[in-house]
Amino acid sequence: MNSTGKDSRRWGGGGNRNERHAVVVGGSLAGLLAAHVLAGYADRVTVVERDRLPQGVKPRPGVAQGRHPHVLLEGGQSALESLLPGFLVELEAAGAPRVGMPSDLVLWQDGHWFRRLPSTTHIYTGSRAQLEELVRRRVLTNPVINVLEATDVIGLLGDASRVRGVLLRDRAGDARGEHRALEADLVVDASGSGTKAPDWLTAIGAKAPYEETIDTGLAYASRLYRGPSGILDGDTAGYYVYPSPAQIHAGGALPLEDGSHLVIVSGLRGDEPPTADDAFVTYVKRLPHPPLHRWLDEAQPLSQAFGYRQTANIRRRYDLPGRHPAGFLATGDALCTFNPVYGQGMAVAAMSALALRDALAHPRRTPTTRRVQRALLAASRQAWDISAGADRKMPGATGTAVDARPADRAADWYLQRVQARYPADPVVGHAFRSVLTLSAPITALFAPPVARAVLFRPPPTTPAGPPETPEE
Ligand SMILES: Cc1cc2nc3c(=O)[nH]c(=O)nc-3n(C[C@H](O)[C@H](O)[C@H](O)COP(=O)(O)OP(=O)(O)OC[C@H]3O[C@@H](n4cnc5c(N)ncnc54)[C@H](O)[C@@H]3O)c2cc1C
Repeated sequence: MNSTGKDSRRWGGGGNRNERHAVVVGGSLAGLLAAHVLAGYADRVTVVERDRLPQGVKPRPGVAQGRHPHVLLEGGQSALESLLPGFLVELEAAGAPRVGMPSDLVLWQDGHWFRRLPSTTHIYTGSRAQLEELVRRRVLTNPVINVLEATDVIGLLGDASRVRGVLLRDRAGDARGEHRALEADLVVDASGSGTKAPDWLTAIGAKAPYEETIDTGLAYASRLYRGPSGILDGDTAGYYVYPSPAQIHAGGALPLEDGSHLVIVSGLRGDEPPTADDAFVTYVKRLPHPPLHRWLDEAQPLSQAFGYRQTANIRRRYDLPGRHPAGFLATGDALCTFNPVYGQGMAVAAMSALALRDALAHPRRTPTTRRVQRALLAASRQAWDISAGADRKMPGATGTAVDARPADRAADWYLQRVQARYPADPVVGHAFRSVLTLSAPITALFAPPVARAVLFRPPPTTPAGPPETPEE
């Protein structure tokens, strides 16, 4: 313990200073939540963020994906609540819609309408900017945490055996962009999917991580609308078409905290959704979802459409053997980026912060860099298995991890039977939703009642048309 009573030995700092200092690169969700955890172990935590942080709920350039729908899955809700007790009450008080699955949505997949069975899970569909603002407000009240805004990290200090800090460049003021050093005992990369950390590591003589990639070429376009009253409100919160190899166009409309809706469409390489006004509407109408078309005819656009194309799954394997220096960790999208169509990244950012907390607090195991990095990777494993497993089957998928292993093929057979029962079987639907929302392990799909339905019962009949009301 040091003078502040914190057990700073628990994250194995290598410096000789009395004060233990952690630097987090990136002040978005993963960075803020990592900083929150580290504040329990460090004397000082500095979050370095390239953007100027907005006052209030506003999109910002460093999080360009924030203009697109961001659902918070149940696994992420529990993790956030555990890290920031009372957070979900704050989220709801701020107006974030809590949407019951499947009862509150009109869902379509592979030629089938989903029964609107009683909900077994809930998602929050409020804006990305609002969620981040609420997290930021909570985390930055801690006096241990300081943010360097409008500042880029441009490299690492140290060598192949230990990272000793970061190299900074102010964005404001200094036109020549002079560099300055900021020493640290621990550097956590939370700079998102476009991280430059592999290059920074190579520059100090360490090894860049092996990257597993699967890229379906999926592109998004989203546009804000205000709909007519009486159609997409009350019992029905949103519309959605899930993607699959047989239905590569996906999308729908999901509610935001102010009563507006984000309409989203996605398509694959070569048939990306357009952002020009009329072309966007035409593209949305290619979705096999008549209620969505009717709603769109009466809804008023509140913004232009925004596109987004970097949607590859990327997993950086810092856990594999190699010259990985002590004192450096990666988390959030910088460690593992998912195809956003599965809505997992924010949940995994929160679950990773929990994994960091648990690894640092472990009563018997010294939290070496390697152990903690493995714990962070483990927190993203289920989400990776879901998105990588689904995306390797999409037509035209490319990357270093597209080839299925024999074990995947056996699992695929079972999974196809699960998916065939998902829209209308309450037992299978509940189990599959729990897995997809990261609130139950994949083994939940093999629990005896689920396996019986999957193996021995035929898929139940699905509704002939879009169900207008939830089932009792
Ligand atoms: C189109 C789209 C839709 C998505 N939808 C969902 C969804 O429905 N549900 C869900 O859970 N997730 C979704 N995600 C994923 C989600 O956005 C991320 O997983 C989540 O934001 C956590 O990311 P992060 O904090 O790791 O990185 P980011 O949010 O990308 O933040 C990285 C931060 O690092 C800063 N930065 C970058 N480089 C530097 C540098 N060199 N120096 C200083 N600062 C730097 C950036 O300015 C930014 O603030 C979606 C993603 C996309 C692309």
